[in-house]
Amino acid sequence: MNSPYEGKFNVTQRFKGSAHDGLDLVGIDSKEIHATADGKIVYAGWENPDNHYQGFGQYVVIQDSKGRMFHFGHLSEIRCKVGDTVKITDVIGIEGSTGHSTGSHCHYCVRTSLSPGTFLDINQISGIPNVEGGPYDDGYRPGQQTTPAPKDDHSKEELLQELKALYEKYS
Ligand SMILES: [Zn+2]
Repeated sequence: MNSPYEGKFNVTQRFKGSAHDGLDLVGIDSKEIHATADGKIVYAGWENPDNHYQGFGQYVVIQDSKGRMFHFGHLSEIRCKVGDTVKITDVIGIEGSTGHSTGSHCHYCVRTSLSPGTFLDINQISGIPNVEGGPYDDGYRPGQQTTPAPKDDHSKEELLQELKALYEKYS
């Protein structure tokens, strides 16, 4: 299974072909949305900048080497930009309720283009069961990220204090 979430998530609406061309997913452990494919960001922004309640709201699309377009809809925040190269598990945004949405979730679908009506079988591609409920868990954990860990943000003074405390403890 390969979902946009690290840890547990629920399926709140299943894939129904043209009637609903993806899965609605809700993160339980985290609201971070992670890349589910290695590829390039080909869309990152509002579906309609003049109407934030329309369609996918803020969304991101990754194109993989096979030309498949992985869509992540209704985001509250976007953490990437068009042209970026991403790897599986990179954080690309935060789950939200922008666009045509009644609650925080991610519409996750794969299309052959940026246009609606070109959907592929999201269950087959992702391995996520087409059954509403959960929780599901694909086993991703923070330590498994392929991106470098964030730098230690301790200030120099804090580090010196820690060293001093250690020195006093063991001397
Ligand atoms: Zn949906």
